[in-house]
Amino acid sequence: MEKVAIVTGGSRGIGKAIVEVLARKNIKVVANYNQSEEKAKKLKEELEKENISIDIFKADVSQREQVKAMVDSTIKTYGRIDILINNAGIDQEKMFQDITDDDWDKIVKVNLYSVFCTTQEVIKYMLNQKNGCIINISSIYGINGGSCAVAYSATKAGIDGMTKALAKELGPSNIRVNSIAPGYIDTDMNKRYSNEEIEQIKEETPLVKIGKPEDIAKCIEWLVEDNFTTGQIISINGGWAI
Ligand code: NAP
Repeated sequence: MEKVAIVTGGSRGIGKAIVEVLARKNIKVVANYNQSEEKAKKLKEELEKENISIDIFKADVSQREQVKAMVDSTIKTYGRIDILINNAGIDQEKMFQDITDDDWDKIVKVNLYSVFCTTQEVIKYMLNQKNGCIINISSIYGINGGSCAVAYSATKAGIDGMTKALAKELGPSNIRVNSIAPGYIDTDMNKRYSNEEIEQIKEETPLVKIGKPEDIAKCIEWLVEDNFTTGQIISINGGWAI
């Protein structure tokens, strides 16, 4: 039976690479997007050239009703969900003293609440199936902390805590829950860094480079096939944090 996956934030960056790798493994993929409709349509068209069909679905993952609509639509179409990749996220660069309540609420809603609510909507079906694989994209900042990224770091550490606790709770139901905590990956999220700053990050990294979205997707490819890894925070960071 073909597996079915939902990838949040799947039209660009790391999410796009994840959609591509899963779709090329004959997994039925629902690629979620919120604002990037054109990019989602383009990705669908590109994969169609390889005779691969994906579904794209617009939902703001910080809004439960929209998440529920996406999950319901996936179940209506395919009748099951085997894989959930909670990838959607935003960053926020601010001095701690400058973070407002609105800033805090927004990043917590998009980065952390979204993982809570999307996972809750999906695991109803995984529990019935007695099978599932959930992978949360957290961040090296959730482990090491990032200066001027306190709120972001807090949401990512929260995701890792949720991952470990859920892995314990859902393990007996044969549902695996893991986090991938990327280091610096070349996506729009890091566009604000100057060339000099990128060079400095490379110098601080033992492998002397920053990562590509495909580096994260390769780990996803392995993790969806695995059956004895759960509750782990797998950090892919070129050795930036050891
Ligand atoms: P990106 O290129 O900025 O992409 C962010 C993705 O999140 C987009 O697909 C965006 O979709 C989606 N998104 C944001 N808010 C959303 C919402 N409310 N509802 C649905 N989708 C939403 O960043 P990226 O680097 O690929 O980041 C992917 C994940 O990796 C994030 O969780 C990020 O924190 C994490 N990460 C990235 C790095 C890095 O160095 N790049 C490092 C560590 C962790 P739309 O454009 O459609 O709105």
